[in-house]
Amino acid sequence: MDRVRPRVGEGKVADYIPELARVDPAQFGIAVATVDGGLYVAGDAGTRFSMQSITKVFALALVMSGSGGGVWGRVHREPSGAPFNSLYQLEFEGGVPRNPMVNPGALVVTDQLLTDTGGASNALRELLCAEAGAPDLGSDEAVARSESEHGERNRALAHLMADFGTIHNPVAEVLEHYFRQCSITISCEELARVGLLLARHGRRADGSQLLSRPDARRIMAVMLTCGTYDAAGEFAYRVGLPCKSGVGGGILAVVPGRCSVAAWGPGLDAKGNSVTAALALEAFTDVTSCSIF
Ligand code: GLU
Repeated sequence: MDRVRPRVGEGKVADYIPELARVDPAQFGIAVATVDGGLYVAGDAGTRFSMQSITKVFALALVMSGSGGGVWGRVHREPSGAPFNSLYQLEFEGGVPRNPMVNPGALVVTDQLLTDTGGASNALRELLCAEAGAPDLGSDEAVARSESEHGERNRALAHLMADFGTIHNPVAEVLEHYFRQCSITISCEELARVGLLLARHGRRADGSQLLSRPDARRIMAVMLTCGTYDAAGEFAYRVGLPCKSGVGGGILAVVPGRCSVAAWGPGLDAKGNSVTAALALEAFTDVTSCSIF
């Protein structure tokens, strides 16, 4: 906490989704959940925040468990090196997104999830509730509406992909599910528990196996290389863990076989990663040596 405390409030709260701009930037929380049942928290670890792109990890987990990885024909696994909502690569790369952690890739995953679940909108929320041990997790309606009202960029991405044949379900339906998914709120404490799904190599809290061990490894590899916008190289250098960040200011990190760490601070840097959550994770791996390297 000592390294982070003086920096709390730094960064810029996301405002391209106007509802997110209402969040008080002077907050910070961190939670560490261990595979043997320990939970360590500090700061505002019990305050819920907008999960945003961190949901992309668990939507991918559901799709990989459901359609046997069938989504991979329609999305690559390469870092984009471009902003998360960039259009230009899509146009030049046949409508196939670079990876499932950027918006177009996540829209393809959402499309696949809709196909796999026959349109059931609740699969992701149910997974998060069960793993977090929090049955009341859900979308923040005001944020979901705000995302939809200001979602022209995501609409453009989805329509462009539909034109290329990458999106199979009706675009409006895919977007609606995507916006609702991003607007789910969660606390660091709850998110750290959800992250154990990966730390336990795909095993759920109830002991059942959602993902095969190799698929859990693959998802963490995609997080490491693509999970922190166009700063994934910088994150690997500074933190050395598979991470996924969201514009709500949360970052989830996983130490395979050991623990899951969720940190949150609403102020973002220029690439869209939380300033304080990144600092906290860097301090965590420095102090504990819990890195994959
Ligand atoms: N809902 C956000 C969007 O689509 C998610 C962005 C993010 O957290 O990276 O723009």
